[in-house]
Amino acid sequence: MTDLKILKERESQVHRNDLKAFHMGCDTKSAAGSVSQRACVFCGSRVVLYPVADALHLVHGPIGCAAYTWDIRGALSSGPQLHRLSFSTDLREEQVVFGGEKKLHQCLTDLIDRHAPSAAFVYATCIVGIIGDDVDAVCRTVTREKGIPVIPVHSEGFKGTKKDGYAAACKALFQLVGTGETKDISPVSINILGEFNIGGEAWMIEEYYQKMGVEVVSVLTGDSRVEKIKRSHGAALNVVQCSGAMLQLAEMMEEAYGIPYIRVSYFGLEDTAQALYDVAAHFSDHPEVTEATRALVKAEIGAVHPDLQAFKKVLKGKKAAIYVGGAFKAFSLIKALRYLGMTTVLVGSQTGNSQDYDLLKKMCDKDTIIVDDSNPLELSTYIMEKEADLFIGGVKERPIAFKMGIGFCDHNHERKTPLAGFKGMHNFATEVYTTVRSPVWQFAPRFGGH
Ligand code: SF4
Repeated sequence: MTDLKILKERESQVHRNDLKAFHMGCDTKSAAGSVSQRACVFCGSRVVLYPVADALHLVHGPIGCAAYTWDIRGALSSGPQLHRLSFSTDLREEQVVFGGEKKLHQCLTDLIDRHAPSAAFVYATCIVGIIGDDVDAVCRTVTREKGIPVIPVHSEGFKGTKKDGYAAACKALFQLVGTGETKDISPVSINILGEFNIGGEAWMIEEYYQKMGVEVVSVLTGDSRVEKIKRSHGAALNVVQCSGAMLQLAEMMEEAYGIPYIRVSYFGLEDTAQALYDVAAHFSDHPEVTEATRALVKAEIGAVHPDLQAFKKVLKGKKAAIYVGGAFKAFSLIKALRYLGMTTVLVGSQTGNSQDYDLLKKMCDKDTIIVDDSNPLELSTYIMEKEADLFIGGVKERPIAFKMGIGFCDHNHERKTPLAGFKGMHNFATEVYTTVRSPVWQFAPRFGGH
């Protein structure tokens, strides 16, 4: 048992699974002084919109906000690379005192002339919320002057949690939806929501749907184009991955255009197969889709199963800690680790809600630590107590794992290997095996010598 003293304000956000009902104090702002691993509202909106590759992304604020999120996901594009540039209005003292609207207008017009984007997103940061620039008015003016959609993103960093940033991004995208031509779209068609093409996953998933005979109208937002987003209201179904980021857009599209949505995960064999079968079931009046799905799943699982069994022999009994952005990803990770014979001893998320945590509790073994909006002290203490062999997280969790001398798997922005789909599960297992068994750990005292 650890003797870690949890901050009083965080007591309802850290639980040891005793298999009884608990209340997770989630969906709240981070406790001051807790050194939260969670990103700000602006960062939340930036990660969602960033992969729209032919749009201009202008961060209205001091240079630090833009630097902090520069190329934040490294999301791959099959064409334009404009999204990879991080433009900033670089607000200084003069604008803080006299207002930044004039500078915003000038930056926007200069950048649009220079790069000819299909649309522009203007992100409001903390300081813009404080000085009160009318970002909407400037965007309306430039829309008129330049003839492209210039969309404000109300993502002032202080006004909530990262989840509020997702909501701001969904509202921004919704301004594009419904403004394009939908003729020629197949009745057997979908939008893929919540897939950001960090390591080429969107391309793999699109290929599955092509083989099933399902048209993908748009991916939001991996390898995305403004024109495709504009016509996305012509799809018959929205398929939403990940719990937090794009659910709100799916709900808005259902209300405005009557497009139903389903929630899926493309991580792990079980969840990927289920996702594809769920989509096929939606088009059950086209039996050829179900037939093609069965054939696809059989072939894909057959191709990776023997190797996964070999990994399982070595990984059986190893222990993993998971700390990710959305809880939906954690569900899939727990299942995938179980498939490899591993147990999850610590799991947490930045943005999970109470239903997510109820489900996590049901999925986890007794005594698993479940945390919301955690910090390095809590995470490292429980990793030590549970003697985890592997930490799965993102860029902020990587140094924790390495300092403790245990394996690490990046399941967030910085990886270059696709982890989605059937092949992605093979990549994941390879990475887990490689890092857990790495000979480098003999040179690093486990848990920092504790
Ligand atoms: S928006 Fe605010 S909290 Fe976010 S990076 Fe900028 S200054 Fe920091």
